[in-house]
Amino acid sequence: MQLTVLGCHAATPRTLANPTSQTLDIRGHLFLIDCGEGTQVQLRKSKLKFSRIKHIFISHLHGDHFFGLPGLVSTFRLLGRENELHIYGPKGIKEAITMLLKLGDSWTNYPLYFHELTSKESIVVFEDDKIKVSTIPLNHRIYTNGFLFQEKEVDRKLNIEAVTAFGIDKCYYQKIKNGKDITLDNGNVVSNTKLTFDPPKPKSYAFCSDTVFEPSIVPIIKDVDVLYHEATFLDSEAELATKTKHSTAKQAAIIAKDANVGALVLGHYSTRYKSTDLFKQEAEEVFKPVFLGEDGKAFNF
Ligand SMILES: [Zn+2]
Ligand SMILES: [Zn+2]
Repeated sequence: MQLTVLGCHAATPRTLANPTSQTLDIRGHLFLIDCGEGTQVQLRKSKLKFSRIKHIFISHLHGDHFFGLPGLVSTFRLLGRENELHIYGPKGIKEAITMLLKLGDSWTNYPLYFHELTSKESIVVFEDDKIKVSTIPLNHRIYTNGFLFQEKEVDRKLNIEAVTAFGIDKCYYQKIKNGKDITLDNGNVVSNTKLTFDPPKPKSYAFCSDTVFEPSIVPIIKDVDVLYHEATFLDSEAELATKTKHSTAKQAAIIAKDANVGALVLGHYSTRYKSTDLFKQEAEEVFKPVFLGEDGKAFNF
């Protein structure tokens, strides 16, 4: 599972600060999460293939999270895209994008599907045999969702040496990978643990931006491997955070600790701070490990 933070700053794009966007490379999918201005350039810099993006998840309709989307949709057309593109985001996103396409008489020549969200409960928005993606209802100034990405269990790994030694026929291999014990011709039962290795543990990633401190999300993101949580402010600006419905680094760490996550990645820093080191320090007083999101930085978990 590779998380690439394309941009992780609040509000306006600046020379060295891109608004929110990231990709999650997981079980063969390259999911794009939020699409602030500059996302295309950041994708190019990170050498991520545009054609691999088939699903885009948008948290909310503040500009710093989706103003890059019309440009990207348009570029896909210019690149001659033929594959379907699915966009998941708040109700209104279809109107916003299609209005721009209509005004420019530049309809896509590839199938474009919108999945508009209105639910205030966590719902599954995408699922295949490898991955499940659900919403994480957040509490911000407008309707906002985070997204939870969960790998599914995979088959157990066949111990080829063992199955060969027991003389087990290939037609039983799938059964064994499904965890079944095997009865040999002589009537002896071989337990599955002798024939297989444990598969890798399914991984999970939760994206939470933007939101005020919202402990109700804890049960939804319980035990995830990695949590990205916004930290727009430091604790010294806690009042301002509450007023603008954002979080502090300390509050992000409290959520991480209560949800027992494996690691916390911070982002969505306000421009008022000269350095992001204080965010890490503040969060680490509550929870470890903490990683600072940085534009263009890839994390392998
Ligand atoms: Zn924002
Ligand atoms: Zn916002």
